[in-house]
Amino acid sequence: MSLPQKVTVSEVGPRDGLQIEKTMLPAADKLRLIEALADAGLTRIEATGFVHPKVIPQFADASEVAEALPRRPSVRYAAFIPNRRGAERAVAAGVDDLKCGVAASDTFNRLNVRMDTATGMRSLEEIAEVAAGTPSRVVGVVATAFGCPYEGAVRFEEVDRLFTHLVGLGTDLIYLADTTGMADPSAVKDRVTRLAERHPDTRVGLHLHNTRGLGLANALAGLECGVTDFEGSIGGLGGCPFAPRAVGNICTEDFVHMCHRMGIETGLDLDRLLDAARLAQDLLGRNLPGMVLKAGPADALHDPEGTREKVD
Ligand code: ZN
Repeated sequence: MSLPQKVTVSEVGPRDGLQIEKTMLPAADKLRLIEALADAGLTRIEATGFVHPKVIPQFADASEVAEALPRRPSVRYAAFIPNRRGAERAVAAGVDDLKCGVAASDTFNRLNVRMDTATGMRSLEEIAEVAAGTPSRVVGVVATAFGCPYEGAVRFEEVDRLFTHLVGLGTDLIYLADTTGMADPSAVKDRVTRLAERHPDTRVGLHLHNTRGLGLANALAGLECGVTDFEGSIGGLGGCPFAPRAVGNICTEDFVHMCHRMGIETGLDLDRLLDAARLAQDLLGRNLPGMVLKAGPADALHDPEGTREKVD
């Protein structure tokens, strides 16, 4: 088993996380959370989505948030972009990374961005055209890469076809998204290994959800086959409005905690990530599913005198 020495964590809580939350955070609160995430050392933060406010009302303030992002030389900000109009708005607002993708399932793609997969692919070409010659770059995503709740199994050949198309648009990093938590460690190893062999010049990233409790197991499978780009959401917040009963992404600080325990560098400050997770809880007024948030890091010592409550 050879593990990478260092991984890059991309935080998607302010976008993938907040889009499903019932509480609509004002832009100022979103920006506070984003600043806390940058303070923890995150250098990749997906801050918003340039989608029509009728589809996802939580991002009606996308331009306002993007224009007020706390700019730091080391941090690249991303936004989810479904079409040309979204790309134009994001480029105008100075977004660094245009996250755009297509679902390997037609039905899911229609629900998610109101286009079938073929139309979605044409839309990606338009987004790449808008980005060309600007400082913004395209980062690709193949959604429902491990299965679709409406169509069931997704063939590897279909994932590879979309992946290949994204490679052709000039993106050097493409995330496989387990949008609705249908992956398992064997499937992760199989798809990642085959794609990496077929596309040696493109990094295969993983965007995992913990829908069925397999999030970190799937992330470990990715680490074991050399993946160095992972997405997570702070506190494990989120879900997907078009995925029945989906839960959030893998929890950023739980993944970081695991990496640090295994000697894998992330460049992140776990304590400050936990501060950001607590801030997200306060802003949303609910407990988030993150486990380290509840239990504390494994190396935190407890006062034996202070542990008087019954443990069952
Ligand atoms: Zn997601």
